[in-house]
Amino acid sequence: MNETPGNLSTVSTEIAIAASKPVAPETATGGAPLEKVALETYVPPAKPSLIGLTRAEISERLATIGIPREQQRMRVQQLWHWMYVRGVQTFAEMTSVSKDLRAELEKHVTVDRPEVVAEQISSDGTRKWLLRLPSGHDLEKPHEVECVYIPETDRGTLCVSSQVGCTLNCSFCHTGTQRLVRNLTAGEIVGQIMVARDRLNDWADRETPHGNRLVTNIVMMGMGEPLYNFDAVRDGLLIVADNEGIGISKRRITLSTSGVVPNIVRAGEEIGVMLAISLHAVRDELRNELVPLNRKYPIAELMQACRDYPAASNAKRITFEYVMLKGVNDSLDDAKRLVKLLKGIHAKINLIPFNPWPGTRYECSDWDQIEKFSEYVFNAGYSSPVRTPRGRDILAACGQLKSETEKLSARERQALRAMAMTD
Ligand code: SAH
Ligand code: SF4
Repeated sequence: MNETPGNLSTVSTEIAIAASKPVAPETATGGAPLEKVALETYVPPAKPSLIGLTRAEISERLATIGIPREQQRMRVQQLWHWMYVRGVQTFAEMTSVSKDLRAELEKHVTVDRPEVVAEQISSDGTRKWLLRLPSGHDLEKPHEVECVYIPETDRGTLCVSSQVGCTLNCSFCHTGTQRLVRNLTAGEIVGQIMVARDRLNDWADRETPHGNRLVTNIVMMGMGEPLYNFDAVRDGLLIVADNEGIGISKRRITLSTSGVVPNIVRAGEEIGVMLAISLHAVRDELRNELVPLNRKYPIAELMQACRDYPAASNAKRITFEYVMLKGVNDSLDDAKRLVKLLKGIHAKINLIPFNPWPGTRYECSDWDQIEKFSEYVFNAGYSSPVRTPRGRDILAACGQLKSETEKLSARERQALRAMAMTD
């Protein structure tokens, strides 16, 4: 296992969201604004990274630096292997590539990933990295996102972000309160997995070249709504799943969405990973309040999209996330309606203890109520795990990632475990 290098601080720094510009909200039919508009401030560096480019895009780059067409395919294969199997961070280490080509590549491109500005390691092995991303504006502070690794005996789950902030405004979610939103690039999405492998010394030249990686599962449950950054999430996840590279199978990648119905259909067709739906309420009236996007795509439409999700017919279960809010959505009547709603869907229910944040109007349900709720759905035939605490000394609960240094409360740890989507 890697040592923490001395140049990394072990506490996170202040995040740059406060300096955000106003964003134009899309007005819905009354109530809080439904969506924010992502600021497209990303300007690629003068020397861009090859990380996150498709094979065809790498080929194009090679063409622009004069690599003959007949060599391109082979060169792309070589680069792909060095980048995504071996995880090298410089062209100099790519020893099977000719020296001249390495020198040429170095002049024009990099294999850089996002910069790690802080790392926190919990005594139980949970790790959180704070990553700095360019803002695209000299006057604006760089943007930051977090990425969390949760180890267990049989797997290691990485919680990955898709946006800085979030396009949506769920009323119980801390990320939703951030005004600034910027979409991550495919390279920044793949880069989070690469950073985790770098920091955990988890590339293929460990003693176990063909397996036993530490990062085995990915959940798109960090900051942001992945289906509002569709192309980058698709391109990034297809690279992560590519079995000639990072090779994390699509069955071990879960994309969580608050319910962007048209893009659920596209995700089924174009990505094919496991699906998790942030349901949280079983009546439109309440869901409109908790997940305002429900006003655009109400529960019935969402359920139909789940029924139609191609992977669902293939013995793959859809996970329904349900945050437990005291006196709001946690009654036995809610549990009954939930079971009814999911009838005919191959589903698993993840009950997430609400993770409170300063200024929130919600409270976490009492433990015995969570147990009663869980028991009801379990007796109706659904697996409904509420997990044991982990990650004691760092703030790492995926649903409310925000870069502040705080201690994890027992509830935060439970929320984190619930969101780790592990059995
Ligand atoms: N935007 C996507 C993925 C990121 S959120 C989505 O909403 O699905 C990951 C999960 O954490 C979601 O189910 C979200 O509803 C939940 N979550 C957000 N804030 C939370 C909080 N304060 N406590 C517990 N879970 C929370
Ligand atoms: Fe965005 Fe998900 Fe939070 Fe809703 S719950 S505001 S979609 S990150």
